Amino acid sequence: MSKPRAIEILNEVFGYPAFRGSQEEIVGTLAAGQSLLVLMPTGGGKSLCYQIPALMRDGVAVVVSPLIALMNDQVANLRTAGVHCAAVHSGTPPEETRQIAEDIATGRLKLLYVSPERLVTERFLRFLDHTAVSLFAIDEAHCVSQWGHDFRPEYRRLGLLAGRYPDIPRIALTATADAETRADIKHYLRLENAPEFVAGFDRPNIYYQVVEKNGGKKQLLQFVKRQNGESGIVYCLSRKKADDTAAFLNENGIAAAAYHAGMSMAEREAAQHRFTHEDGLVIAATVAFGMGIDKPDVRFVAHLDMPQSIEHFYQESGRAGRDGLPAESWLCYGLNDYALLRERIQTGGSGEFQKQIELQKLDAMFAVCETSECRRAALLRHFGETIPPCGHCDNCLHPPVRQDATENVRKLLSCIYRAGQRFGAGYITNILRGKADQWIRDNRHEQLSTYGIGANLSDKEWRGIIRQCIGLGYLETDPQHYHALRLTEAAVPVLKGSQTVLLRPPKREKGAERSPKETWLRTEREERLWQALRQWRQTLARAEEIPAYMICGDATLRDLVRKQPHTTDRLHDIYGLGEAKIRRFGAQILAVCQNAAAEGRPSENPAEPFSDGLETPAPAHPRRRELEAALQQWRQQRANEENAAPHTVCPDDSIADLAAFPPAEAGDLATVYGLGSTRTAKYGTEILALCRPFADGLTPEAQRRRRLVRRLTAWCAATAAAENEETFRILSKNTLRALAAKQPHTPEALAAVYGMNEDKTTRYGKAVLEIIRQEAV
Ligand SMILES: [Zn+2]
Repeated sequence: MSKPRAIEILNEVFGYPAFRGSQEEIVGTLAAGQSLLVLMPTGGGKSLCYQIPALMRDGVAVVVSPLIALMNDQVANLRTAGVHCAAVHSGTPPEETRQIAEDIATGRLKLLYVSPERLVTERFLRFLDHTAVSLFAIDEAHCVSQWGHDFRPEYRRLGLLAGRYPDIPRIALTATADAETRADIKHYLRLENAPEFVAGFDRPNIYYQVVEKNGGKKQLLQFVKRQNGESGIVYCLSRKKADDTAAFLNENGIAAAAYHAGMSMAEREAAQHRFTHEDGLVIAATVAFGMGIDKPDVRFVAHLDMPQSIEHFYQESGRAGRDGLPAESWLCYGLNDYALLRERIQTGGSGEFQKQIELQKLDAMFAVCETSECRRAALLRHFGETIPPCGHCDNCLHPPVRQDATENVRKLLSCIYRAGQRFGAGYITNILRGKADQWIRDNRHEQLSTYGIGANLSDKEWRGIIRQCIGLGYLETDPQHYHALRLTEAAVPVLKGSQTVLLRPPKREKGAERSPKETWLRTEREERLWQALRQWRQTLARAEEIPAYMICGDATLRDLVRKQPHTTDRLHDIYGLGEAKIRRFGAQILAVCQNAAAEGRPSENPAEPFSDGLETPAPAHPRRRELEAALQQWRQQRANEENAAPHTVCPDDSIADLAAFPPAEAGDLATVYGLGSTRTAKYGTEILALCRPFADGLTPEAQRRRRLVRRLTAWCAATAAAENEETFRILSKNTLRALAAKQPHTPEALAAVYGMNEDKTTRYGKAVLEIIRQEAV
């Protein structure tokens, strides 16, 4: 068996056409056995950097990951791609652990995800001593540093791998890379001499805009409406707010779902599944959402509240536009967010040193919100990169006007000082504006010389000035004393009159709201074609049961709209359309383009282009829902008994699949998504008992499809055994199912099926066609 090349794995297993940026070099370096440190922003394709070498090298790759959710996501993704992998953590049942050990011993398992705590136990290390390990990957390596935003002390012990396994290459990966963190990673993980790969942190396709909060939800709605039904993420500070925001968006006609740690695992998985599979869904989430989400066509990320650090902001906003197409980051912030976050940090469980770091990080975030300079430059400076003004962020496109506000700032500082630095923004504003409420009278503050000297400005204007003074470092808030405003050292020269202060006048959101993205869809005709193509892609994706972006990326659709091809020949000029895709989709794409182009006929019938017999998705059958509910109930019960997460008992994808095609016999279980041999051995009988009554209700056509999948699966396993190959490298599960759905009878039709490239058609085409022919008889 020849060793697969990196590019083949990228194409065949992961379905990406080409490496991005420094990926290829990193993969090559690690595959050749060299240790390295990789700093790559979210969305840069970090995981592939070790997953591909893991499949190229002999033995099992041990991947250290800090969160169980993160491990489960990665494992689920890899399994969908047909890779043998597993995670061991506190939620893994003992039988499964034994099975995993067995799979490692026989060399079947290619990747093993573990927590840092488990890896450094003597017991686990002794196990590794006798195991062929291909590489160690240490994900989220910034956890090693107190400067990182997720310090995990046990990460520091991972340095022992260098001494104990000097010949096994190690890769440390992170998306956070300020200078202190980077130095800590190299030191503690003993990578001092390892090459460092820094992928640029700039995300030039993201348009950054920051607006001052003024009825946040309404501002959000306006922003989301401008996105023309694209999918995106809205981050909120609390669970309740995530729920409220999802409900609010739904009420206003925007399909939205909530996601936060207060929901059950099943609910969260359902939301995540909808997000990756539905076009145009908006997720309103807490920071719990996003780790391990690999959706390239997220068009916007909105922050309804201010994030607690630039690292958080960059990681979250970086989930937009991973496909390199224009995307937007929108951040709405107010003074209350800042005060609330300060309070959270102060009252949180961290040690004093850690709190100081967190407060500094919060101040840095606030300063980015308040800045009048280029947002991108301000963000990148934080990661140690210097760039000239970018020319396409809100501040570059609409430079904020700044005015001499020294007089007002002095009034404010003086008022805070005279009132004893014990009061919050609202109270101080009331004194300045000359409002005599009972509290002010009780404190005799109506007698202060600053009482009423700011009556010419509104509450809102004063709040703007206070916020900017905090951003500029003249003021700070004291969370232990009701967010009282206090002067800093920097305020002294201003008070003394030796320094002028330039501030933005209030109300500047208007200008910042126009995004440059709107310019590319200009004519009605282009918009019509864009929508028609998206609809076509969605229908096809559902029929083939794969995410839409796997059919065609947004970049391809956009190029189609721009060039509006009319002949197959012209399709070759379209970005992202290779020979195989043109063969499969060419005729359909041309039909969509023609229909949309026909004057005044905005494709009334979206199913029309599918004259090749592709089915349109039927609404979920009541019996299907009934089975789904029964399976979920069973899973919950099992999870409770085993004290495990429901996901570990049976993934959501498997349940959806079981409900759609209920298995009738044991062999059918092998074709179910994500179920795997371990679960099948453990739960197969119970699952079959639940499903069998529903299996008989299938239509004759569905029954035929199922028989076909069975035969194809059996053939695939036999071929894999004969060729001494992994099964997924013969034909993936997705391909087997696509074959059963389309039942091609000619080599041409066969070549058009998902996953059947030229090589596969040449090697296996005859056998596959023969099986389909026999089944048809
Ligand atoms: Zn800029």
